[in-house]
Amino acid sequence: MNHVPTNIRWHHAKVTAEDRERSKGQRGAVLWFTGLSGSGKSTIATIVDARLMQRGRHSYILDGDNLRFGLCNDLGFSPEDRAENTRRLAEVAALFVDAGLIVLVAAITPYRRDRDHARARLPAGRFLEIFVDTDLTECERRDPKGLYRRARAGEITGFSGIDAPYERPEAPELHLIAGVDPPDVLAEQVLAQLAARGLVGSDPA
Ligand code: ADP
Repeated sequence: MNHVPTNIRWHHAKVTAEDRERSKGQRGAVLWFTGLSGSGKSTIATIVDARLMQRGRHSYILDGDNLRFGLCNDLGFSPEDRAENTRRLAEVAALFVDAGLIVLVAAITPYRRDRDHARARLPAGRFLEIFVDTDLTECERRDPKGLYRRARAGEITGFSGIDAPYERPEAPELHLIAGVDPPDVLAEQVLAQLAARGLVGSDPA
């Protein structure tokens, strides 16, 4: 699958990535939210997205579940399919970063190797791994989609944290201890990271 094309050439646009960033007053970047199902990835990403919009910034959410309805609808949850799912998320995210957007990826992405591949696909400093660290007991208590109950009953197999691994990030750019604080407090920590890294200005546009 990993073939290098020989008879096509990269076509360069007149507008550069820097032009696009300048016009938006921000740097393109990926915020990659990883954590167990129910840990709060989508909830936090949604708040960050809305607050960026309020501040005149340009962002977009790539939700792992949502992309499985279309771009990734041929993939399941085996380790190989999860690797391919992560690869596609990273490829789309890289395009959006080139377009100058702040991309919020919310996907369990349980394997360290897959997340590292995604990181390697982005320019240095433009990939922020955000570990939404809610422990399994709390995720199971929330069980917003009833998936843990079904996984415990053996109706779903290969469920991260139950009968498939979740490999905790070793050196994430941001580690959110997410089981206690409310989502909007956690979202502000993410926004502070963006400002601290110079990816967006600290004041509203
Ligand atoms: P994920 O995207 O990681 O699967 P969700 O964002 O769908 O998780 O959140 C799962 C559930 O937990 C939702 O019902 C949400 O309202 C709740 N939730 C998320 N973050 C928090 C939080 N920090 N504190 C309390 N409840 C939360």
